[in-house]
Amino acid sequence: MEKLDGYIVDLKGMTTDTVSYQWHIDDDFFSAVQGSEVQQGQLDVALRVKRTSGAYELAFQFSGTVKVTCNCCLELLDLPIQAQRTLLVQLGDTYSDDGDMVTVPYRDGTFCVAWNLYEVIALEIPIRHVHPECETEE
Ligand SMILES: [Zn+2]
Repeated sequence: MEKLDGYIVDLKGMTTDTVSYQWHIDDDFFSAVQGSEVQQGQLDVALRVKRTSGAYELAFQFSGTVKVTCNCCLELLDLPIQAQRTLLVQLGDTYSDDGDMVTVPYRDGTFCVAWNLYEVIALEIPIRHVHPECETEE
């Protein structure tokens, strides 16, 4: 997973209370995370990490498009994605993820957001996605 090293957020090493990250994710990202729903896309992702007492608030903003297979003709279709998501991360003894709060071990103090980015994008894709012209043919 070394291709995803660039998505590691250093929580323990934060020297200010807010840190911003900016990524442009493309087909290489999707092939590195090996998600099944999305294999291609171009998105800009902004992340603002805010350190509060006891936790870190990670606010993500997504903007771009992904290519998914049309449910009707099975050709690729561009799907615009605009999303915002917030995630809370804390440092603890062992790794855990209860959906709302991720706990990262103290000894690491870092958190790789690659899979979280992928999940947010995948969740934005509607169950039914077809080309507008395919929609009218039915
Ligand atoms: Zn189609």
